[in-house]
Amino acid sequence: MSFGKDIIIAAQTELAKRKSRAENLQQQRRSEVLLKVPEIAAAERELAQTGLDVVKAIGMGADARSYLENLAKTNLALQEKIKLLLVSNGYPENYLETDYVCKKCEDTGYVEGTPCSCRRILLKELALKKLYSNSRAAQCTFESFNLDYYSDRPDERFGISAKEQMKNILEYCRCYADDFDCSSPSLYLFGQTGLGKTHLTLAIAGVVTASGYNVIYDSAQNIFNRLEREHFRSSRSDEYDGAEQELLDCDLLIIDDLGSEFTTQFTVAALYNVLNTRLNCDKPVIISTNLDAHALEEKYSPRITSRIMGGYTPLHFLGNDIRQKLNN
Ligand SMILES: [Zn+2]
Repeated sequence: MSFGKDIIIAAQTELAKRKSRAENLQQQRRSEVLLKVPEIAAAERELAQTGLDVVKAIGMGADARSYLENLAKTNLALQEKIKLLLVSNGYPENYLETDYVCKKCEDTGYVEGTPCSCRRILLKELALKKLYSNSRAAQCTFESFNLDYYSDRPDERFGISAKEQMKNILEYCRCYADDFDCSSPSLYLFGQTGLGKTHLTLAIAGVVTASGYNVIYDSAQNIFNRLEREHFRSSRSDEYDGAEQELLDCDLLIIDDLGSEFTTQFTVAALYNVLNTRLNCDKPVIISTNLDAHALEEKYSPRITSRIMGGYTPLHFLGNDIRQKLNN
């Protein structure tokens, strides 16, 4: 799983903060204790000496073993003495230990070169926080998707009521999110405005992000703005922000409201490149749009439309704009 550059930087910053917070606190406590209990300072000096004395074992031959055993005993006894001194002076016995948030990796994020579980948890938390900085995301869950707003009268054109169709789509999306992996299919969510497409894509984004996958969720307009900025600056490599690479690398790309943006030759080419590259690598994309196949072809190109029609699972949202009902 690959996380976006901003999430990785935020995680590294947070880990460094945790580490320095713990180590500063340990130093403060140590200065305080050594000043108040000089016997601890003496015991610490002796302890340090046992560490230095280890080298004397070299060249002792057969005697080295019992010498080292004695040294280890002295070392343990000194540690015990320090604990007792702490307790008898009113401190907890572990007062001088560095209080890392994660003892396994001492807040470095790595154990012997392998990412620590705390780092993975942190990345996930930061990704969720980023998703939920989109004010609607936290409210748009599968649980809050209300089927009561859809009519149960069968729609003659499709032979199914909007409610029945949306119930199936809700169930499909829920299973999709629960069972998501990097080779899940791409989805094409289409239908009129105000039928809950954004709600369900946000619900999928929430569940998949919480499972630890790197999800990029954004409106088509924002995605194209970033790509355009990057493209027209690429001559100045210091301003390259990796927008396109992130769109290609993430585990799940969700493009909300495709078709509402202002298209140019550039955006059409950029969209084709992203969709085509991801499809070739079997990386899922979810597109939500008001455009059906015909309208897609008019706005973009037959190439893009055929990629979507050929490679995506279509989910047709039915009903009348539920936002009016929500507001009443
Ligand atoms: Zn850790």
